[in-house]
Amino acid sequence: MPTYREEAVVLRTQRLGEADRIVTLLGRERGVVRAVAKGVRRTSSKFGARLEPFMVVDLQLFEGRQREGRSLDTVTQAVTISPYGADIAADWDAYAAASSMVEAAERLADAADSTHAAEQQYVLLAGSLRVLSRGERRSDGVRDAYLLRALSLAGWRPNFAACARCGTAGGFERVSLAAGGAVCDACAREAGPTIAVSVDAMRVLWALLAGNWGVVEAAGSADRDRASTVVAAYAQFHLERGLRSLHVTDAERRSTLHEPMRSDEV
Ligand SMILES: [Zn+2]
Repeated sequence: MPTYREEAVVLRTQRLGEADRIVTLLGRERGVVRAVAKGVRRTSSKFGARLEPFMVVDLQLFEGRQREGRSLDTVTQAVTISPYGADIAADWDAYAAASSMVEAAERLADAADSTHAAEQQYVLLAGSLRVLSRGERRSDGVRDAYLLRALSLAGWRPNFAACARCGTAGGFERVSLAAGGAVCDACAREAGPTIAVSVDAMRVLWALLAGNWGVVEAAGSADRDRASTVVAAYAQFHLERGLRSLHVTDAERRSTLHEPMRSDEV
């Protein structure tokens, strides 16, 4: 059976029988790979903790047969490249953020239409997990910046610096998920439901996407929370089924969505 080598982030694991595990990986070259790790749950396992979520590993695998368009490969060797998993698992906020990130990564990998796009998603995820594991930045900010950039790589880059619909520059206070970012007052009437945000929250959104951490960390908590709500809604809008791990309830979502003003009201 053909074998191959792949650098990968462990996205999630599932138990398989008494001692084995199925690991879902984001590979640098192959995108999402599902593989069996045999004997991984025995204390004597040579894989040990290397195949836990959020670890970056160098793997040898052999290819399984394709079944219904998916294949289940088998891990034969695993060497740790970056042990982010342990540090992330030790911090609840980091763990929650990382869980949202790997869930989004798995969905977005299907949207990657080329090897280059898959590799960019891999590099972004591994880099964001490294930042999380170091604990130097707020976990929610790392998660939100990751989501905005990962969605951008998938072709859904939002615009928070100007009206996403007509391009007018300015400090706007409404976000349209469908239009893909800030909308001016005129466009807000045409854009369908919009989310109200402060000018400062819009600036946080812009800074998250631009990687301007000074702005993100200087922002007030209300503005940061509002920006997080927008990021979660934007991710859910594009990932369709929504991310379970983001815990945004329908009631919360409804409270943030406003029907567009009708032109006869203004
Ligand atoms: Zn506009």
